[in-house]
Amino acid sequence: AEGKPFNEQDARFKEASRIASLLTPLAKYLLSESANQICYDALQIHGGAGYMKEFNIERLARDARITNIYEGTSQLQIVAATGGTINDVLAGYFNEKEEHVYKGILEKLADYLTEIRQLFLESLKYVLDKQDKYFQDVAARELVEIYSFIYTGYLLLDEAEIESRKFFIANRYIISALAKARRHADAIKNEQFSDLLHTDEILI
Ligand SMILES: Cc1cc2nc3c(=O)[nH]c(=O)nc-3n(C[C@H](O)[C@H](O)[C@H](O)COP(=O)(O)OP(=O)(O)OC[C@H]3O[C@@H](n4cnc5c(N)ncnc54)[C@H](O)[C@@H]3O)c2cc1C
Repeated sequence: AEGKPFNEQDARFKEASRIASLLTPLAKYLLSESANQICYDALQIHGGAGYMKEFNIERLARDARITNIYEGTSQLQIVAATGGTINDVLAGYFNEKEEHVYKGILEKLADYLTEIRQLFLESLKYVLDKQDKYFQDVAARELVEIYSFIYTGYLLLDEAEIESRKFFIANRYIISALAKARRHADAIKNEQFSDLLHTDEILI
């Protein structure tokens, strides 16, 4: 903008690029995986009839299945989102959110998001302290997902603050995200992925 020193604009552009580089693969990953889960459940509700071409769900389920493969598989979206997650590029945004006072029934949800963030920071420290690139690669999906819970959680919380009827969806998402974040953090700290280091023994 006019009158702003070039360096400040440059820094803001770089910051926006770093955030976009995280949110783009994150959005592709979360939406294509969700589309698959939604179509899977929808087909299940239809029973055997849903599997037949007479019902649109048959096509939707097939079409959803390619979305997490083409234009970058889900695994590669995770690879693309790992740098931004490990570098905690949304730290400034999350700090702002933590300082904001959410009132009434939203306060409890804000506390849950703070707890998820704590789980993320502990898990991240655990992964980085190991200084093992292989472990970092296999723990990446859990780390990225925990990070996405915080971001999506704040988006929904902010919507609920503006529009009270959005509380239901924010409440359901954040409670479920906290449970998943705890499981993911446990998986990382218990090194559940260490099975991958013992494939020779397991696959005999
Ligand atoms: C219907 C359809 C339309 C398409 N349209 C186009 C198009 O218009 N333009 C175009 O360019 N391409 C197109 N493609 C190709 C598509 O982009 C590729 O299929 C996709 O990028 C995956 O590559 P691949 O099939 O070679 O799988 P691979 O790269 O062989 O991957 C196989 C598996 O290994 C995993 N994997 C691979 N590398 C890694 C890694 N480093 N870390 C972790 N896991 C990994 C993948 O996630 C996947 O699960 C299309 C494909 C289909 C089926």
